[in-house]
Amino acid sequence: MNQRPVLRRCVACKKLIDRKKLWKVTKDYRDGVVLENGMGRSAYLCPNETCLEDAWKRKRLQRALRSRVELSLVEVLRNRLDHCHD
Ligand SMILES: [Zn+2]
Repeated sequence: MNQRPVLRRCVACKKLIDRKKLWKVTKDYRDGVVLENGMGRSAYLCPNETCLEDAWKRKRLQRALRSRVELSLVEVLRNRLDHCHD
């Protein structure tokens, strides 16, 4: 079977990208907004600074998830970016 990648749209740049390459942010029905896992409404974001900052400043994640997004979540993602540089 030919496995086609599942494409998802980044909430910041609106590009369609392989879901596996994107960060997934989910509004879990129990735990609130979480990364990677969780059940509920999801938003996707390119793992780069431009999309992360754009999503935060323009409240794109909040809008996509229809929920409050804590700065701490964005900081977790920023930390992941820092680790990617080495
Ligand atoms: Zn993007």
